[in-house]
Amino acid sequence: VSPSHPIRATLFPGDGIGPEIAESFDSSNINFIEEMQVFNAAEVPIEWEEHFVGDKVDPRTESFLTWESLESVRRNGVGLKGPMATPIGKGHRSLNLTLRKELGLYANVRPCYSLPGYKTRYDDVNLVTIRENTEGEYSGLEHQVVRGVVESLKIITRQASMRVAEYAFHYAKTHGRKKVSAIHKANIMRKTDGLFLKCCREVAEKYPKINYEEVIIDNCCMMLVKNPALFDVLVMPNLYGDIISDLCAGLVGGLGLTPSCNIGEKGIALAEAVHGSAPDIAGKNLANPTALLLSSVAMLRHLELHDKANQIHDAIINTIAEGKYRTVDLGGTSSTTDFTKAVCDNL
Ligand code: NAD
Repeated sequence: VSPSHPIRATLFPGDGIGPEIAESFDSSNINFIEEMQVFNAAEVPIEWEEHFVGDKVDPRTESFLTWESLESVRRNGVGLKGPMATPIGKGHRSLNLTLRKELGLYANVRPCYSLPGYKTRYDDVNLVTIRENTEGEYSGLEHQVVRGVVESLKIITRQASMRVAEYAFHYAKTHGRKKVSAIHKANIMRKTDGLFLKCCREVAEKYPKINYEEVIIDNCCMMLVKNPALFDVLVMPNLYGDIISDLCAGLVGGLGLTPSCNIGEKGIALAEAVHGSAPDIAGKNLANPTALLLSSVAMLRHLELHDKANQIHDAIINTIAEGKYRTVDLGGTSSTTDFTKAVCDNL
């Protein structure tokens, strides 16, 4: 059932290919063609508040993202985000890190499943990675000890580990999943990953109907590429989640296909494509918008607009399965705009 008033949501087109793939949603773009807009075609009752990455550092956020952009997400509670480029080794906070920290985006959820009609090495991938998103090796605590020696701190807290473990088990229960695997390296990192595991075990006890297992990260990689059907829901600290979720994207056809959603404090949901700004193909109308479109589907599900989510999801899957319009990363020759138009036609 559609609400009587449009729902406001924040849209970050982002950098590189971001603005090209966000055109599917964005009516203000000068190249705007009515039928290209997937959300218009599906009559989704969303009103976007668009926010762009700035070109100077906002001292309140210590990054190129303004305080007003963060306030927009806080106010709306939902948003969709394109990729944001992170200049390596420059003196300001990463944009993605800023969003995660400031909005308390504690879990990154990435469903990864074989797309019907698009053949890869595996036909039966259907798993979800849930990554702790705020600490671990990505705490941003690095310093030089003496010349030639640097130190990076890996922070694991009981609070963040419990929060992501609770989320993973709750997700498994509410999505009819049977098993949660905690991924770790506690045999070496006894204190940090040890605490993470302890929290997962504690939460697992509260969910006796969900099978719980612990898998060491290196073994997990081997098992995933050998037989991904062994896994259902995987929960893990930040760095492992970053790597494993891209590995999983590779199992089903690559970064252009896989959506994600960041879950934050006070019920915030910021959906985002898992890929980066793809500078090698930016500005060439070659990018696959599927990951961002499927992320928008995740956002609509969060808003319980399930009819609209299903319509858009099916139109994307059908377009890929028909095989006539596929972008270059899927072995086709279609441009971003041709593919998006085909999705709209399928709606
Ligand atoms: P990338 O994901 O941008 O690109 C890796 C490869 O995948 C490239 O060959 C690219 O062409 C391809 N690719 C990615 N998305 C695609 C799409 N939608 N359609 C077709 N092909 C696609 O990774 P990178 O090159 O390591 O990073 C580039 C920049 O993006 C860096 O500044 C990095 O920090 C940033 N980044 C941002 C995010 C994010 O915002 N969440 C995630 C990862 C990387």
